[in-house]
Amino acid sequence: MKNFDPIQIRKDFPIYSNIEKPFVYLDNAATTQRPSIVLNELNKYYTQFNANVHRAIYTIGEKATQAYEDAREKIAKFIGADNSSIIFTRGATESINLVAYAWARNNLSSNDEILVTEMEHHSNLVPWQLAAKATGASLKYIPLNDDGTLDLNDPDKYFNNKTKFVAVIHQSNVLGTINPIKNIIEMAHNVGAKTLIDGAQWVPHGHTDLSHINSDFYAFSGHKMLGPTGVGILYGKPEILDEMEPFQTGGEMIKSVSMQDATWNEIPYKFEAGTPNIAQAIGLGAAVQYINDLGLDNIHHYGERLIKYALDKLNQIDGLKIHGNQNQRGPVVSFEIEDVHPQDLAQFLDQDGIAIRAGQHCTQPIMNKLGVFATSRASFYIYNTEDDIDTLCESIEKTASVFK
Ligand SMILES: *Cc1c(COP(=O)(O)O)cnc(C)c1O
Repeated sequence: MKNFDPIQIRKDFPIYSNIEKPFVYLDNAATTQRPSIVLNELNKYYTQFNANVHRAIYTIGEKATQAYEDAREKIAKFIGADNSSIIFTRGATESINLVAYAWARNNLSSNDEILVTEMEHHSNLVPWQLAAKATGASLKYIPLNDDGTLDLNDPDKYFNNKTKFVAVIHQSNVLGTINPIKNIIEMAHNVGAKTLIDGAQWVPHGHTDLSHINSDFYAFSGHKMLGPTGVGILYGKPEILDEMEPFQTGGEMIKSVSMQDATWNEIPYKFEAGTPNIAQAIGLGAAVQYINDLGLDNIHHYGERLIKYALDKLNQIDGLKIHGNQNQRGPVVSFEIEDVHPQDLAQFLDQDGIAIRAGQHCTQPIMNKLGVFATSRASFYIYNTEDDIDTLCESIEKTASVFK
C-alpha cells in the first residue's frame, strides 16, 4: 500500500497544474477529477488500437476487445461480482432506467408496490414513478428522519406481501448518510421483493462486496470515481439478467436474426446493444486500478477524517446549519447559512477559487422534507486537504459578513 498523501496525489491529476491557483475543488459528489493514468488509457486506445470490439479478427480489434473485457473483469473484482453480471451503461441513470424498463415493466402489475425512500436522487426515483404509472403499481416511501437517517423503526409499515421492488440509495449525495442497505435488502427479500441499490456515491468511497450485500441490482457511475464521463455499471444477479428481456436492441446483443424475429446474446452482451463506450470502459478500468493502488481502505479512512474535520470547522461558523448532522456519513455535507442564498454563497466562494454546489442536488423530496428551497454542498475526495476546508470556512465567514 502506497503512503496516502493528498499533496502527492495531486501530482497525478493534470488539472491541478493546469488551473491557476487557488483551485479548491469541493464538488466531487457531482463529478471527480481524472488522474493521468485514466487520460493516458483513453489516449492509448484511440492512438494505438482503436477498433470496434467483439467483431474484428485483426490484431487491433482483438486488442480493443481484450482491453474492454479486461476492464470489465477489473470492475467485477472490485465489487465482488462475476464478469457476466457487469453491464456497461452510460451512467448510473441509464443503469437504473435499464432495470425500470427491462425488469419492472415486465414484472409488475396493479396490485404491486414499489418501495423507495425520501432520500433518493431523481435518477432513482423518476424511473420508478414512470414504471409505476406504466404498470399500475403504487409507489411507496420510506420516510426520512430529521437527523438525515431513514425511518426504519417500523419496517412492517413499508415491507409487506405487495412489495415487489425496493430501490434505495446507498450513500446520500446530499446528507452523506450511509444507509443500512444489507438490512434493507434482507427485509425486501423476506417479503419476496427484488432490490436495486444506487451506489453512485458509495462506490468511490468504500468497499463494495456484492456477494456479501446480496442485492439483485446495483448501479453506479464511472465519472464519480475518477473515470471518464459516459460510462456506468449495472450489476445484476446472473439468474435474473438471464430471464430478463433486453432493454435496447440492435447489433451485438442478438444471437440470431430472422426476417420476423430475433434471439438474444448471452449476458452481459444481451444488454449492451450497439457499439459500446469502449474507450470510457477502458478508462474506468484504469480508474479502478488507480483506486486499488491507493487502497480503498486508505481512501475510506481519509474521507472519514476529512468529513470529521469539516463538520467540526463548519459547526464553529455563526449562523451555519448542517443538514443531517449524524455520524454514519460519507465525505459530503449540505448546509445553509443565515441570510445568504446558496446561489450567492457559491458565487462568492468561486471568487476565492472554491467550487461548491448550490441547489437541490437532484433531490427535491429531501428539500421538501428539510423545508428549504436549496442547500450548499461541499464534497471531498482524495486530493482534498484540511487546508481546503480551512479555505472554505474562511470564505464562508467572509461572505456571511458581507450579507449581515
Ligand atoms: C450522480 C448520481 C446519480 C446519477 O448518475 P449519472 O452519472 O448522472 O447518471 C444517481 N444517483 C446518485 C446518488 C448520484 O449521486
